[in-house]
Amino acid sequence: MVTGTTIPIQSQKIWALLNDVYDPEVPVLSITDLGIVRNVDVQNDNITVTITPTYTGCPAMDVISMNIRMKLLEHGYKNITIKSVLSPAWTTDWMTEAGKQKLKAYGIAPPNPGQQVCKPDLFQEDEAVQCPRCNSYSTVMVSRFGSTACKALYKCQDCHEPFDYFKCH
Ligand SMILES: [Zn+2]
Repeated sequence: MVTGTTIPIQSQKIWALLNDVYDPEVPVLSITDLGIVRNVDVQNDNITVTITPTYTGCPAMDVISMNIRMKLLEHGYKNITIKSVLSPAWTTDWMTEAGKQKLKAYGIAPPNPGQQVCKPDLFQEDEAVQCPRCNSYSTVMVSRFGSTACKALYKCQDCHEPFDYFKCH
């Protein structure tokens, strides 16, 4: 191997496979779009994938771990360890721009880019959420919990469509 090669080809292959593992809640988003894959480490045949859960206790995370394992097994990798790291906590800032666009195209309002600090009380109060259909900011929260615990249900006052908002941590 050439010395000075900083990105091991093996872990690049793993990253490419992870681009193809999707969030069970939002099937258009891959786990790399979400930004939850923190590290990929390959030592001989041993692969360690480190992920940070989007939301503590989010049942989707178990499914995601299983899907990562399945994807790697499919491609002949056998010694797979999936580590879950809670700190630093995932924030919606880790989501890629492409991921936010995909969310919007799917009809879910992407996380607010101006929201740097994620606090449940902030989320409840004064957050301007944009309608993914007509881009109006004239929206109201209908329920803190949308189709899943990780989303909130909103309704647009202009186009009158309900939509999910991918809510902050
Ligand atoms: Zn609207």
